[in-house]
Amino acid sequence: MNSILQHDLNDFENILEKAKQQGINFLNNLENIPTSNKNKIDPKRDLNELGLGSEQALKEFKERLAPLLVSSPGPRYWGFVTGGSTPASIVGDWLASVYDQNTQSVTSQGGNSALIEFETINLLLQLLELPDSFLGGFVTGAAMSNFTCLGVARQWFGKQFGKDFAKNGISESINILTATPHSSSIKSLSMLGIGSQNYTVVNTIAGNREALDLDDLEEKIKALNGKPFILISSAGTVNTADFDDFEAILNLKAKYNFWWHIDAAFGGFAAVSEKYKHYVKGWENADSVTIDCHKWLNVPYESAFYLIKKEHLNLQIETFQNSNAPYLGNALENFNYLNVLPENSRRLRALPVWFSLIAYGKEGFCDIIEKSTLLALHFGNALIENGDFELMAPIRLNNVCFTLKGEENQDKTLQFLTKLNDTGKVFMTPTVYQNRKGIRASFVNWRTTEEDIKIVIEEMKAVLDDLDY
Ligand SMILES: *Cc1c(COP(=O)(O)O)cnc(C)c1O
Repeated sequence: MNSILQHDLNDFENILEKAKQQGINFLNNLENIPTSNKNKIDPKRDLNELGLGSEQALKEFKERLAPLLVSSPGPRYWGFVTGGSTPASIVGDWLASVYDQNTQSVTSQGGNSALIEFETINLLLQLLELPDSFLGGFVTGAAMSNFTCLGVARQWFGKQFGKDFAKNGISESINILTATPHSSSIKSLSMLGIGSQNYTVVNTIAGNREALDLDDLEEKIKALNGKPFILISSAGTVNTADFDDFEAILNLKAKYNFWWHIDAAFGGFAAVSEKYKHYVKGWENADSVTIDCHKWLNVPYESAFYLIKKEHLNLQIETFQNSNAPYLGNALENFNYLNVLPENSRRLRALPVWFSLIAYGKEGFCDIIEKSTLLALHFGNALIENGDFELMAPIRLNNVCFTLKGEENQDKTLQFLTKLNDTGKVFMTPTVYQNRKGIRASFVNWRTTEEDIKIVIEEMKAVLDDLDY
């Protein structure tokens, strides 16, 4: 063994202790660490001939690299839809690295870490009150989950014509209907060879909605003349957290032949609260569902899962099996994650979620969900009270979409946002909603409090004064 590695091995406990210290210094200071910075490094550092050892590497990380990092797991990072990490989720994440399993199937790797993944998916189904007619697994994020689900949908579509697209390639044009898809679903269409422009846009409900207009949907279905299609529906659009009407979609399922996918990346967690579960009523009837854990479940990146109905397992295996690796056995007889999703080797990605669900239970997450939605309303009210802003859409759940008052102030809105983000006190993202430039604040982080909203409103006032608005 190389002497520096040997030294590290002997010093392992001390090294981990120092890493823990570095971590806890960051976590205990999250509120004061800026949400943005302009620090840079020259990323062309020379590789050492002789290694420095972990302790020196940690020192260099602290001095050179840590200053590049922002307080994105902190309470005032409201950009995109960004969750933080609870204590239990960090424990699970650290231990997933320490145990370093390659989670595939029961006993195939010698161990049984897949049982932990099965158990975690089962706990999630209980949290979300979904039936166990779904089979699920972990992937890196909702984008990869959408890809997985739509990959199986593509195979289903071919089967309606007696074709095996996975084996022979796509030989029929695939009909996709959707109203307000997330960009990652469109990217999936591109990666799946369907084509990122080859989908039909269904109108949204009139009057400030992003949900499918059911009449227009049915008209567009009829225009397909009985041909099958794939419906990409939404449980929580990113701008306004709007939901499609799943009970109405279920009624269409009785009349027409289609694969029903729901992107519920963050909105799926509405199911956890008595107050909001009506948004997802009927969603258990979908063929596939995408859900992120690194957003509202507040576990570290990268964590999401897909749910696909068990009845489609054959199609899923046809799509993702490693068919030319005989040592992997018969994919149908021996369930193995590497035959049902894009990646082969995978870390024990379920563990952070398992720790979170065991540690905080249903009530812990119900609290996080309901507190986030209250904070969103609270922030919306503060914006209205302030008088310089207007909401671009009603606040249905946890996202607030707003802008400076007055159509003529679109560019000023972006100027304002840039200056506000530069303060490092808060981070929000620019958006375009109904052809108008705006700002989006998303409440997902378990640490955010009313005090944070006060701090942000004060900053916003100061920036406006500065801008001479
Ligand atoms: C965030 C998000 C995605 C993409 O998720 P990643 O985890 O970033 O891959 C997809 N759909 C919706 C609705 C989202 O909010």
